[in-house]
Amino acid sequence: MPETTTATATARRLHHIGGEQVEPSGGDFFESHNPATREVLYTAARGDASDVDRAVRAARTAFEDPRWRDLSQTRRGRLLRRLADLIEENAEELARTESLDNGKLLREMRGQLATLPEYYHYYAGLADKIQGDVIPTSDRSVLNYTVREPLGVVGAITPWNSPLTLTTSKLAPALCSGNTMVIKPSEYTSASVLRLAELVEEAGFPPGCVNVVTGFGAEAGQALVDHPGIAKVSFTGSTQTGSRIAANVAGRFLGSTLELGGKSPNIVFGDADVANAAMGVIAGVFAAAGQTCIAGSRVFAHRSVYDELLERVAERAGTIRIGDPLRDDTELGPLAFADQRDKVAGYVDLGRSEGARVLTGGEATDGDGLGGFFYRPTVLVDVHNDMRVVREEIFGPVVAVMPFETEDEVVALANDTEYGLAAGVWTNDLGRAHRMASRLQAGTIWVNTYRAMSPMSPRQGYKSSGVGVEHGQETIKEYTQLKSVWINTSSAPLGDPFVMRS
Ligand code: NAD
Repeated sequence: MPETTTATATARRLHHIGGEQVEPSGGDFFESHNPATREVLYTAARGDASDVDRAVRAARTAFEDPRWRDLSQTRRGRLLRRLADLIEENAEELARTESLDNGKLLREMRGQLATLPEYYHYYAGLADKIQGDVIPTSDRSVLNYTVREPLGVVGAITPWNSPLTLTTSKLAPALCSGNTMVIKPSEYTSASVLRLAELVEEAGFPPGCVNVVTGFGAEAGQALVDHPGIAKVSFTGSTQTGSRIAANVAGRFLGSTLELGGKSPNIVFGDADVANAAMGVIAGVFAAAGQTCIAGSRVFAHRSVYDELLERVAERAGTIRIGDPLRDDTELGPLAFADQRDKVAGYVDLGRSEGARVLTGGEATDGDGLGGFFYRPTVLVDVHNDMRVVREEIFGPVVAVMPFETEDEVVALANDTEYGLAAGVWTNDLGRAHRMASRLQAGTIWVNTYRAMSPMSPRQGYKSSGVGVEHGQETIKEYTQLKSVWINTSSAPLGDPFVMRS
């Protein structure tokens, strides 16, 4: 947990509520650090239940405000397009803000910022296509139609690994559908989401449409989930927290979208282009220092290419340039905070004690004198599916590589997990590619590629990796309520009151 302070440091970040910068009601702030250097970047308001209450009320007021409620769907789309343009204009600042806060490579952040506006453009395009249907009835004098209505105030809770992108996956469809939102970003990365909220207002969304309460999960996050004024929780984070939230909202019959953890398999067949597959393995688990939900952290290589693949992966892993995320030639930044680095180190030690062999990596580093929370890219071998390092999400630059003999065997091994977020398959056999896509229990399957994503393509976790869809047209259903309206157009007497009409 970041340290709490009452100091009024120069760079203070306040809550964003009802279009205003709001002091925390308890008066407390907590520090946010640059994980590459441990420097304090700023202090953020430590939100509590009363801050959350204020934000939910502001969001409810905005939801009922005719400036938002009665805005045509086309105009909603126009606001989203303006927001997309503002994000594009401020891309460099947003990329740097996030890179400093969570240690992601600036290069990667620039890439994310180049595509982020497309999410808003995509949902801007959908805004005026949200519509119901006219439903056939057996009585021609009765008109039955459906409408899709916004839900109300959506509570969004997001993690630290990609704050802007993961917030956008919720915000763009929620606004497109006419909802308002209260966002609780991760306590490790408040800055970029606060800046995004300012841009939302600059784009012309009425004040209160988007509110941000910063703070800790057990305080601000819990208070948001518990608040009676929210219509839905949209959460991205660990399976553990997601499970707690799911139990809470189920008892209240609240809607929820839960995007959770993963332990994704990346499978290399004997007929694959092994050089490409090795790059896919590297991209799958060492990009973003392995801090992605879709990390391909379990690699299964066919016995015929196992040695070659291992050699290529270990060689590249050993030469990955670790260092300052702001430099263009850096390939691996730090873990986002000290506890995360310690968690990764703990898992590698656990793997060793379980009998795993560290082929390369396996140690923490301060990033050549930077003083940050780095961990060397690590390849574990002599591992099997029963080990905790193979079963549990590490969320760091650690990959376990295992050989296999047959397609049936690898399907069973890959599916033997509580998770089901994504899977990679490397093969030049078209039939096998389709068979694997069908047999793997994961929401996203990549064949001869990894980490591809777009606002147009829906994604949904299998098993403990989540509930509900993000991205694509399906998402509109997640943020709207279906209503069925029956109108009797006849002036004839209603008839027998004890017989149901249709
Ligand atoms: P986390 O569950 O610890 O925290 C996520 C958010 O929930 C934070 O904002 C936190 O403050 C808040 N929170 C914590 N306890 C809470 C509570 N009791 N009530 C309400 N809110 C609470 O997750 P993390 O460590 O920040 O993120 C890493 C996890 O996120 C990994 O498991 C990763 O796989 C997952 N993730 C999933 C996706 C996806 O799309 N499926 C994407 C990115 C990350």
